[in-house]
Amino acid sequence: MPPRVKREVEQYLRCGDLRYGFVEVSCEVCKEARLVAFSCKGRGFCPSCTTRRAIDTGAQLESMLPHVAHRQWTLSLPFSLRFHVVKRPELLKRIEVRLVRAIWRWQRREARRLGAVGPLRGGGVCFWQWFGSSLQLTPHLHLLVPEAQWLGSGEPVVLGPPSDDDVTAVLHRVLRQAQRDWADEGVSWAEDEYEAMQQQAIQQRLPLNEPGSQRRRRVAVAHGFSLHADTAVHANDRQGLERLCRYGARGPVCESRLHRLEDGRYEYTPKKGVTFTLTAEALVRRLVALLPPARLHLTSFHGVLAPNASLRPLATQQPEAQAVSGPRAKVPPKKKTKRRLDWATLHQRTFGTDVLRCPCGGLRTIRALHSTRSAAELRLAALGIPVPSRILPPATAPPQLTFAV
Ligand SMILES: [Zn+2]
Ligand SMILES: [Zn+2]
Repeated sequence: MPPRVKREVEQYLRCGDLRYGFVEVSCEVCKEARLVAFSCKGRGFCPSCTTRRAIDTGAQLESMLPHVAHRQWTLSLPFSLRFHVVKRPELLKRIEVRLVRAIWRWQRREARRLGAVGPLRGGGVCFWQWFGSSLQLTPHLHLLVPEAQWLGSGEPVVLGPPSDDDVTAVLHRVLRQAQRDWADEGVSWAEDEYEAMQQQAIQQRLPLNEPGSQRRRRVAVAHGFSLHADTAVHANDRQGLERLCRYGARGPVCESRLHRLEDGRYEYTPKKGVTFTLTAEALVRRLVALLPPARLHLTSFHGVLAPNASLRPLATQQPEAQAVSGPRAKVPPKKKTKRRLDWATLHQRTFGTDVLRCPCGGLRTIRALHSTRSAAELRLAALGIPVPSRILPPATAPPQLTFAV
């Protein structure tokens, strides 16, 4: 196993374990004390840390994204390309950039049709998901695109939703361009109708959704890729927008969907698909395989939403500020947005408990922080709290095969 995998697992095993450090809070009224253990902050599979990260990202993006409608474009890859992408994540990055540009190209044409003149710029936030709902390794993209293009003055040109044909045209453009990237990888595309049929036979089980019969809207399929663009939130639906961001930034495991059975095996009920049962070993093997690539951002910003974009302050300002300053106002000074939710708020939103509010109604304050293992264990002993031992069993060699001599 690569060191980063071991590190992730070891840190996960310490997540929420009081022996590895905790915060001590106590009520100002009834003096009742409470210990809050440190978390692992893993980005692989720790359900509580990935959930907390998703909630944090959702809240942060909701306060930052422009006040226009947003559409989610989801691009999934054919089976045959998924492992290539796992081995070389930069291939997914290239597809991401091509998808963003193809969507902007269509948006600019729409904006011109509405009479916009001059340079136009679009925006987008892309989430990489390395897994599917049934814990399978399947890298794909969730791209959130504002349904607007911005003029040089910072004024948005609000656009309507794409038609089915627009979505198809976007996918075909992405694939025409991506073909070049993939040619270097030795991956070839279906070249005629028959090969396309073969590809579909690899990709899809029968029965297929026959064309015409309950056709899904704003879905394009080609060369084993599929592009879904039917999920959107209205400009005023900020909660819906936050939910979409949270969904894009989520981790692979939803803890409420995972149950331990009496025989020690685990049962997982995915959002889509059938419930399955697996042994602890199979579950661990799978979770470890779902670790996202190292040293790569799983959330990235494009166009006017990019960190250094000159239009970003104008595109992301609150509607009240727009009304006051007018669309042609100078670029407002960079606003000091609160980047992250504070610890207690995040805890509250993730676990539904307020660490700083006592059931008696009193306010809790942070009394002390024990950040090393020795300090934490010393304090636990002083408090007389027995700590359940969670020492890992020693690593053993695989069982020796007996040779039939
Ligand atoms: Zn109290
Ligand atoms: Zn954790």
